[in-house]
Amino acid sequence: MSPGFISVLGGAPEVPFSQAVLNGWAPDGGMYWPASVEAVSRATLASWAGLSYPRLCEEVLKRFIAADDPDISRAELAAITSAAFEAFGTTEIVKLRPLPTGSESKARMHVLELWHGPTLAFKDLGMSVLGRTLHHLLRKRRQRTTLLVGTSGDTGSSAMEAVRGLDGIEIVVLYPLQGFSSISPVQEMQMTAVAQAAPNVHLIGVEGSSDDLDRPMERCFRDSDFKARHQLGSVNSVNVVRLLVQTVHYFYAYCRIARPDAPDAPDAALDVQFAVPCGAAGHLAAGVLAIQMGLPMRLIAGTNSNDALHALLRTGTLQPGRPVVQTASPSMDIQVPYNVWRILYVASGGDAAAVGRWQTDFAAGRLELPRHVRAWLDAHIHSAAVDDGATARTMRDTHAHAASYLLDPHTAVGVAAAAAALAATATAAPTPTPAPPSAVVCFACAHPVKFLPTVEAAFGCGAEHALGMAKEGTAGHRCVEAVARMACDAREGYPSPSWVPPGCCAVLRKRPGASAEQWEAEWTATLRAKIEYLTRGRRSKL
Ligand SMILES: *Cc1c(COP(=O)(O)O)cnc(C)c1O
Repeated sequence: MSPGFISVLGGAPEVPFSQAVLNGWAPDGGMYWPASVEAVSRATLASWAGLSYPRLCEEVLKRFIAADDPDISRAELAAITSAAFEAFGTTEIVKLRPLPTGSESKARMHVLELWHGPTLAFKDLGMSVLGRTLHHLLRKRRQRTTLLVGTSGDTGSSAMEAVRGLDGIEIVVLYPLQGFSSISPVQEMQMTAVAQAAPNVHLIGVEGSSDDLDRPMERCFRDSDFKARHQLGSVNSVNVVRLLVQTVHYFYAYCRIARPDAPDAPDAALDVQFAVPCGAAGHLAAGVLAIQMGLPMRLIAGTNSNDALHALLRTGTLQPGRPVVQTASPSMDIQVPYNVWRILYVASGGDAAAVGRWQTDFAAGRLELPRHVRAWLDAHIHSAAVDDGATARTMRDTHAHAASYLLDPHTAVGVAAAAAALAATATAAPTPTPAPPSAVVCFACAHPVKFLPTVEAAFGCGAEHALGMAKEGTAGHRCVEAVARMACDAREGYPSPSWVPPGCCAVLRKRPGASAEQWEAEWTATLRAKIEYLTRGRRSKL
C-alpha cells in the first residue's frame, strides 16, 4: 500500500502527498482525501502517548507520505516539523487543561489550547507546517508560487506569519474592511503589521463580506492559463497539510486523556468526545479523519448563528444562499462549510459519485442526504448552534467556575455546544451504572486578547479591565504580549471613508451605482493587474 490522495469527487488521478500539497484543489474541483487509511493500532497509540506535539505531528504525517517519496525524505519531514513551531510563544506548543464547569455533569471537561502560535489562533499549527512544506517542495522543484488567500479574520494573518520571509513565495491576502464584516481591529492590525514589515506579503482591503471577496479570487483561480502563468497557490483549509496536522490535535489530547500507554490508570477515560467550534468545518473534517484512522471518539460540532452546518447535521439538508450574519465569533461566520464534502465522502462509505451528485444538488438549490449517511453522521457527530447571548453567558460562567479562566468567543461556542450535547444525551438515555468514565475536550481555537470588545460586552466592563482578564496567567508569552500591545493601539473604525489602512497595497471598493456584476469585474481586473505586476520579474512589494 503506497499512500496517496484522491479527489472526493472521484474525477482526478491519485497523486502523492507532495502533488496534493502543491495542487490544493484536485483538478476535478474536488478536495483531496487519503486514498486509503490504515487504522492506528493500540500499540502505536500507546507509543504516541509520550510524544511532544511536533514529534506526534511527524509520526502522523509519515503515515500519509511514501517512505521513498522523491520530493520529501523522512529526514526532511523531521526537519520541517521540528522547525515549524519556532515562532510559537511556548515550548509546549499545545496545552491540555482541566476545565471545571460547576455543573452536575459526570463528564470531565478539558480545554485543548491550540492558540499558542504567533496569531493566537489554531490555524497557526497547520499553517506553519504548510508554509515550511511548500517552501521545501518549491525549492526542490525549482518553482515559485503566489499564494492567493481570502480571509474573514484569522486565516490571513496566520498564512502571512507562516510564509513571511520565505523565498520563492509571495502571498496576497484579501480581507473585508471594518464595517463590512465583524473583523476585529486587532485582527486587522495583525495583518497590516506584517504587510508593512515583510516584503513578500501583500494585503488588499475589500468593501464587502468574505463571501464577496471570494468572487474575484475564484475568477483568478478558475482561469487555468492565468493560474498556471502566475503559479497561483492556495493555503486555505482545503490543503491536505492543514487537514493532516489538525488530525494531530485529536490524537494528542486522546493519548493524554485515555492513556493507551497505561489503560489501568485510574484517571483514564474511555469515552472521549471533542467539541469543535466550526466555520468551514476543516477542523471537524480532521476529526472525521481521526475516526477513520480508528480513534475511538465522537465529535460535537458547534456553530454560531450561521448554522448551515448544524442544519445539515440535524436535518440532512443543506441549502445555498443563507445570508451570513455578523456574530461575536467572526472566524465562524460562514454559511458554506465547504469541508463538508470531505465529511460526506467518509459518511457515505467513500461514494465519490454520490458526493458529486450532492454538490450538484446543492448548487441547484437543495441537497438532501439519504438515510444511511444521516445514520453515520448521527452516530459520530452531535451538533448545536449557539447564539451570541449564550456565547457571552458561557464566557461569564466559565470565568466564574474555572478560576478566572477566560474563553475567547469561538472557544465559548464549542464549550456551550458541549454542554448542550451532554444535556441532550443525559435526557435521551439514562446512563447505565456504572457509567464509563467520560471526558470532553473543547478545542480552544483562539486567545481572548484578540477579541477584547466582545469581552467588554460580555462582562459589562471597560477596555482596561478586559485586557487584564485576558492577559491573566500569560506573563512572558511573547505572542500574547505582542497581540496585547496591538489591542491597545488598534482602533475601531477609520478616520475617513476613503481611508486606506497602512500596509494595504489596494482597496477594492463598490463604486456607487455599480451593479454586483460590475464591481465583481472591476475587482477581478484590479486583482489580476496586481498579481501580474508582482510576478513580472518577481518584484516583491506591490
Ligand atoms: C478558523 C477558525 C474557526 C473555524 O475553523 P474551521 O476549520 O474553518 O471550521 C474557529 N475558530 C477560530 C478562532 C478560527 O480561527
